[in-house]
Amino acid sequence: MIQTVRGTRDLLPEDMPLWHRVEEVAREAFRRYGFREIRTPIFEKTELFARGVGESTDIVHKEMYTFVDRARADSEGESLTLRPENTASVVRAYLQHKMFADKSPGELTRLYYIGPMFRRERPQAGRYRQFYQIGVEVMGSSDDPAIEAEVIEMLSWLLQELKITNTTLLINSVGEPASRASYVETLREALKAQLDKLCADCHHRYETNPLRVFDCKVASCQAVIADLPTITDSLDDASRAHFEQFKAHLDARGLAYTVNPRMVRGLDYYTRTAFEIVGHDGLGAQNTLIGGGRYDGLSETLGGPPTKGFGFAFGLDRMVMALPEAEAQRLRANDAPDVFLVFLGDAARQHTFQVARDLRAAGVSVALEFEDRKMKKAMTAAAKSRARYALIIGDNEVSSGQYGLKNLATGEQESLSLGDIIAKFK
Ligand code: AMP
Repeated sequence: MIQTVRGTRDLLPEDMPLWHRVEEVAREAFRRYGFREIRTPIFEKTELFARGVGESTDIVHKEMYTFVDRARADSEGESLTLRPENTASVVRAYLQHKMFADKSPGELTRLYYIGPMFRRERPQAGRYRQFYQIGVEVMGSSDDPAIEAEVIEMLSWLLQELKITNTTLLINSVGEPASRASYVETLREALKAQLDKLCADCHHRYETNPLRVFDCKVASCQAVIADLPTITDSLDDASRAHFEQFKAHLDARGLAYTVNPRMVRGLDYYTRTAFEIVGHDGLGAQNTLIGGGRYDGLSETLGGPPTKGFGFAFGLDRMVMALPEAEAQRLRANDAPDVFLVFLGDAARQHTFQVARDLRAAGVSVALEFEDRKMKKAMTAAAKSRARYALIIGDNEVSSGQYGLKNLATGEQESLSLGDIIAKFK
């Protein structure tokens, strides 16, 4: 038997109502806040992520699914990569389609996406090699911190609508590239003295990108991390002022937060504001639901004009895991068919096909099976279908046009015409 690849999984029908709910609430949030959908390809030139996300990040350094496309007669095979995240692709699309061209000063482009991402991470609960993200990007000439607060307000609505209540908003500023560069040197100095206590990965990070040490989950490294100088201590004045305004906007909206000066996020493109929303129920160790931040230099890195950007991504897999059990049960129950058609005898069977067609044409969700069964067996099948009602069709019903509609939860039965039944489901 061939099975799924390690770190990937099938999403089965019983879970899909939960996925659909998260997607539906997200789309509604985006509609209310003026975001429009974009879909970019699942694979891109490797260079996009190498430049966009950063060569020295864990994602690019060791987690990408990269392959050489078959060579054509006129060219070498080119290096392609399954997207590990979508911000670089969305910024590429924004530049490629010159979405900035017809904009007046300060006008923003608000985009959202939904789709699978691929990272060769060590699989565990809440961490997969193919996972799904929903995210937004706000791009344009303005870097007003009010944008950031508005996006977080939208997330707060989304979480509330999904009944995910026990969450914490963590915020930080990672500064401008220049102040960050000098901080990285300070950090490297501090790490040098502690190298013997760090894991092999952190040794590599020390060499290539010391900031990434903060992402390390190894307990002995965590102990070292707790005493390192923070980026917040060496912020440039402009970033500090931006961060203060951002916090004031959150305060004005009544959005609670915790400043975490050690949160630097796993991607190189972040400047100034970075944030995470952490969940506490049903998630285990992988409890970061949402991650995002500002990426003002990314457009230039990809060869575009100066552009400000801010966005987030959340893991759909994790958001589904964080749904409270009562909500999950409600969503699964709502996914059942409205009515199961039970027929008795051959003439009734033919008639049932017409009834099914008429009900479906009127928008009713109908389940039926084609086997002629005795009443008792048919009712068992009806219960198994989880339908709310069973509609019983025998010879008498065919001739009278009145059908027995049985509520399968209460056992109550009433005799109704097809028109009445349709009206009842409307
Ligand atoms: P990132 O793109 O790394 O900032 O991650 C943003 C969000 O995507 C995280 O907070 C998670 O909810 C989700 N996520 C990232 N990596 C994975 C993964 N391997 N499996 C499942 N969800 C993930």
